[in-house]
Amino acid sequence: MKYIKSILLLLTVTFFGSLAAYAQDNYPANYARAPRFKALLFYNKHVEEAHLQFAEQTIDFFKRLTYGDGYILEVTDNFSAYTDRLNDYDVLIAVNDAPVSAKDRAAFEKYMENGGGWIGFHAAAYNDRNTKWPWFNKFLGAGVFYCNNWPPQPALLDIDVTDHAVTKNLPASFVAPASEWYQWDPSPRSNPNVDILLSLSSRNYPIGIKDVVKFGDFPVVWTNRDYRMIYLNMGHGDVEYLDATQNLLFVNAFRWIVSRDPKGNPFEK
Ligand code: ZN
Repeated sequence: MKYIKSILLLLTVTFFGSLAAYAQDNYPANYARAPRFKALLFYNKHVEEAHLQFAEQTIDFFKRLTYGDGYILEVTDNFSAYTDRLNDYDVLIAVNDAPVSAKDRAAFEKYMENGGGWIGFHAAAYNDRNTKWPWFNKFLGAGVFYCNNWPPQPALLDIDVTDHAVTKNLPASFVAPASEWYQWDPSPRSNPNVDILLSLSSRNYPIGIKDVVKFGDFPVVWTNRDYRMIYLNMGHGDVEYLDATQNLLFVNAFRWIVSRDPKGNPFEK
């Protein structure tokens, strides 16, 4: 009997001992003890209604991602008030808004040139011949706004790069919720520093009811490898968050930018 007890004790010690070792070395989850990083979401209230609708839903979406205090999210409709302390943030979420004044642009340039993070939606990258901010085109790796479909409508998107962190768990193609899709001149596809991750399928053509686009290149999600940035063309209206695949894409894009922080990957903390 004593012998059996010893065996049982030995087995118990071995079992819990190996559990402890497993917890240290191989445990699958990594629970953060504190907020992992800090994000600043900026938007503009003085924009077209559909762009504000998207901004309001985007604020809600990113707030939900903070649940459990995974990270700190600050939200502003006044980017200018933050330009003296952009370095406090590991990532900027630009929602249909971009710096306008010379001071704000200079602060943004300095932040991005020194490893800052940016995830930009829709009109956050809008620029035309009147914008007069050549650095911004260098940053985007793209030219000016060229044309769009109208009205907003769903579209079939194709994944261009299937083994990228942002796309690896997405289907090869999916129908994205209604949006206003942009073409660019020149297209970021002509820039060797740019990786186009998703595009509108050519099977969408002709796309539009009032303004009909019959051909051309609609890159939808891209990154310029010279910066810690990703641009997503979605961002028009109040139905953008109705699709789980697209929501997953947004999480992937956000997570990827954050994970490449030059100060270290906060998800490995
Ligand atoms: Zn729009």
